[in-house]
Order: sequence, then structure tokens, then C-alpha cells
Amino acid sequence: MKSQKFNFLLAASAVILVLSLLLIELRRNRLVSVESPNRLVMNTISKIIAVAENKKIAQASIETAYNEVYRLEKLMNRFDPNSQLSEVNRTAGKERVQVDKDLFEILSLSIYYSKLTDGAFDVTVGPLVDLWRKCAEANSLPSEEQLADVKKIIGYDKIILDGNDYSVKFAVEGMRLDLGGIAKGFAADKAQNMMIKSGAAGGLIDLGGQIACFGKPKNDDKWIIGIRNPFKEESNKVLMKLALSNAAAATSGNYERFYTIKGRRFSHIFNPRTETSAQEVSSVTIISTNGSESDALATALNVMGVKKGLELVEKMGTSQAIFVPAENNDTLIKSSGAEKYIF
Ligand code: AMP
Ligand code: MG
Repeated sequence: MKSQKFNFLLAASAVILVLSLLLIELRRNRLVSVESPNRLVMNTISKIIAVAENKKIAQASIETAYNEVYRLEKLMNRFDPNSQLSEVNRTAGKERVQVDKDLFEILSLSIYYSKLTDGAFDVTVGPLVDLWRKCAEANSLPSEEQLADVKKIIGYDKIILDGNDYSVKFAVEGMRLDLGGIAKGFAADKAQNMMIKSGAAGGLIDLGGQIACFGKPKNDDKWIIGIRNPFKEESNKVLMKLALSNAAAATSGNYERFYTIKGRRFSHIFNPRTETSAQEVSSVTIISTNGSESDALATALNVMGVKKGLELVEKMGTSQAIFVPAENNDTLIKSSGAEKYIF
């Protein structure tokens, strides 16, 4: 008698399970996927895909995500004299400047990643970036004197943040913050939050190769993204494909943006300590749980190089790294958990 009852319960559970799975599958089949046309934001080409119950929700979630990116861009673009970051760069050397909580958050995160990377990531590189840009325009290398002058006004330890009133102050005058190494990752995270809030079941945000994704694409279990090969000029040459879900990815290297001085190519990423451009790697791809981390680490690991970079990600355990070394560039160097993302 007992065993009959047990068999009945077992059969009933199995039926419920099958029905639930069918329901989930049915719901998923009913989802729609909307892809935005390419848009120019943060000085790059972007695209957002939204998966939702209906077209209206998907489209609305794309719009709110873009509005968030535009808002953050307005806050953090140091080349826009009207941005809050420009206000900070003009004034924080003299007095405390109160900032929007998102700007405060990205500065706090930047300092966190500076400490974690032993100063390889440092948003105070603004004056160094400007010096190298000017030198490239004049086709001359920076002088010892110019580099010594810049040295005095860089260093993340010279940023003073006060969480009581969300204010920023510089320890020395003349400092200039440059959020180019982390802003896209941060914006992708915030845009993703907006999409989730607007009811999207899944989505992919691509800000010029800075990727954040959540949920699933309509007809697949993972989002498949292509990583560019730094040694192929044609923009569609893919180095590898990654299969991601609820993850972020960033690639940094010297292949897209660089300076040329006297025929030599210099990366747009600088070692804040030596004040020269990062040379050891051609590109680094980071896969993380969030965009800010992937962006900051991809920039930092260009400076740190393969050995120190791998040591760091293995110790952290929250990110994976894939390097294209500057020499022997046909062999990829991967952290221990990177392989499972390669498609
Ligand atoms: P990404 O493409 O994310 O690697 O960012 C590169 C940009 O970050 C550069 O164009 C600079 O604006 C800025 N940058 C350069 N070197 C550094 C560094 N060591 N730490 C933080 N930001 C940097
Ligand atoms: Mg970066």
C-alpha cells in the first residue's frame, strides 16, 4: 500500500516537473528579441540587444539603457568642458567639489582598482596622456623635464574623496582625471541595471567591445561575442569567440588607438610609474562578473604584463584573462578558468 502511494507521488512529481519545464520553454519561445541599430556613444560604436515578453518592453529597455549611457557620458567626459568631470579637473586642485553619486562611485572604484593593481590602473594619468598626445602631434618624444613635471601631478593617492558629502579634492593643483580606462565598463553595468528594471529578461550591451550581458538570448543559452584580432587590420577579423551569460568582457590593447612618434607606435595605455606606454602585450581580454572590473583590469593588465597580470587574476578569482603577447603573438596566454568561456 505504502509503495503504491510512493509510486503515485513519484509519478505526480515527474508530471509536474515536465509541465513546469514545458511552461518555461513555452514562455521563452514567446519572448521577443530586439536589436538596436548602431549608435555612436562614448566615442565608440555601440549596440544593445534586449530580450523581453514583448516588443514594447524590449524597445523601452533599450531606450532607458541608452539614456543612462548618455547621462553618464555627460558626467564623465573630460573633453566636454560642461561635464562634471571637467568641473572637478578645473576646481578640485583649489577646493572641494561635490559630485553626483555616480561620479563619486566610479572614482571610489578607480581607487580600489589602483590599490589592487599596485598603481598600474590610475585615473590620474590625464596629464601624462595629454603630454604624449602633444608629443605625437609634434612628432617628438617627451623630454626628461616634461616627464618630471607630469610626475608631480599624477598618483591616485593624491585624490581625496569624502563620502560624507560626496566631494572630491586634489592634493596638488594641476591634476586631471581621465576615466577612459573604466567609464565604458561602468556605464555598461549601469545600463544593464536599467534594462533589468525595465523588465527585460535578457540583454547584451556592447559599447565598442566593452560587453555586459544578462539572461539569455532568445534562441540560445549563451551570448556569443567576437574578440578582434589585434594583428588583423580589417575590423571583422575575429581572434576568438566567447560564450557568456551574466558576465562582462573587455579588451584593451594597442591595436585600435595608439600614437606614432618618429615611426614608432606607442600604446594609448601608460605605465604611471615609468611614464612610458605599455609595451609587453598586444591585447588583454578580461571576463568578469561586472563591467567596471573587466574594463579596469583590461587596462591595468596591459601595464602589468603577462606574469604579474596572471598572478593578480588568479589571486582575485573573480576574473579571467586572455593575453595576446606582443611577441609570439600566435599563442594566447590564458588564466586557469578562461578556457570554459571560449566558444
Ligand atoms: P581602455 O581602452 O579601457 O584600456 O582605456 C584606455 C584609456 O584609459 C586611455 O586612452 C587613457 O585615456 C586611459 N589610461 C591610459 N593609461 C591608463 C592607466 N594606466 N590607468 C587608467 N587609465 C589609463
Ligand atoms: Mg579599460
